[in-house]
Amino acid sequence: MGQVSLALRQDKMMTGPADGLSALLDQSNQGVPLSREGANWLIRSSDHDLPALLAAARAAKQRFKPGVITYSRKVFIPLTNLCRDYCGYCIFRRDPGQFGAHTMTPDQVLEIVRAGARMGCTEALFSLGDKPELIFPEMRATLRRLGYRSTLHYLEAMCELVLRETSLLPHPNPGLMSPEWIARLAAVSPSMGLMLETTSNALLGPGAAHDNAPDKVPAKRLRTVEEAGKQSVPFTTGLLIGIGETLADRVDTLLAIRELHRRYGHIQEVIIQNFRAKPDIPMRDWPEPTRNEMLRTVAVARLLMPDVNLQAPPNLSAPYYDELLDAGINDWGGISPLTPDFINPEKPWPHLAQLQSRTESKGYTLRQRLPVYPEFLTAITARAGLLAEKVKAAADREGYAWRATAA
Ligand code: SF4
Repeated sequence: MGQVSLALRQDKMMTGPADGLSALLDQSNQGVPLSREGANWLIRSSDHDLPALLAAARAAKQRFKPGVITYSRKVFIPLTNLCRDYCGYCIFRRDPGQFGAHTMTPDQVLEIVRAGARMGCTEALFSLGDKPELIFPEMRATLRRLGYRSTLHYLEAMCELVLRETSLLPHPNPGLMSPEWIARLAAVSPSMGLMLETTSNALLGPGAAHDNAPDKVPAKRLRTVEEAGKQSVPFTTGLLIGIGETLADRVDTLLAIRELHRRYGHIQEVIIQNFRAKPDIPMRDWPEPTRNEMLRTVAVARLLMPDVNLQAPPNLSAPYYDELLDAGINDWGGISPLTPDFINPEKPWPHLAQLQSRTESKGYTLRQRLPVYPEFLTAITARAGLLAEKVKAAADREGYAWRATAA
């Protein structure tokens, strides 16, 4: 049956729940990506139907990348935790003068990265607040002292420093970026990221998660992801689920990512991150997504994008994180043997030996990848210059980490 007629079948939906589920899953087993209607149906399917949904997602993952689950051994560099946004779920951000407010010096950056290199890390993940200098004179003064005009100028210099002085590859995650900044950061890092989080404008409303977060306007974030596509930059994005969006919003967000990837082919991975409540955040009493809700979302993402790398952070689903493998992920994301998860500090990463044994007990081999995925490497290594040289030096013949370290 052709893709169009299968899609029509999905759109008309089926007579009963059992028929509907098996028809949709049959189509997926034939390699047909889900339609919006099919995804909306499956994301609302019952716990009773979950095993069948997971089996289809797992089969799709195996068709895409059989037998292998990847992770990136990284150090986490919180370059600054000052941020002009106030997301309701964020424990990372600080105002100047607040306990824990911090902007790292170049020496501190190098110290962490060199320690990571000794432990076999290959990724330097730069996470930071969005444009804090626009509202905080203290950040403008810090940048002046450091000798930079903006946080992005400082980030660019630190990526270049890491690239030049160490064997780790930078992966910046600085929030919204203009076309010019995407190009500048792409010259000093093989990949970069911005979580789309959600396409729901309702979350900008009073009392919602993004009501005081000007950089979380979905249209602006979509523009950044699209611009990275126009410039062919290997790009990481994803969803944050459970922050007030509806199930239909989740499907819309996944479809927006799928459409951008269809147009530009640059989405190297999609992260499904689940909201976790913490005592010190405005959304401390907000309900967390249930395990089954998380598994259903991951499985629907896999069936919507059968040929895209799909990641879910294990520390946010501990102690049951290996169930995420049943939902079709093929990557655990960045795991650090050295630095904590500054975004979710109360949820430590699992020990790499445990991650390996849980992955192997599900029948997969765990492999260390670089921040840029193997299938996106050649676009970087084909160029001349320091970035291409460093990526070539870090990669093995298949594009995984050359000096992969035993867990
Ligand atoms: S989630 Fe990011 S943008 Fe939002 S407040 Fe935290 S650091 Fe700022």
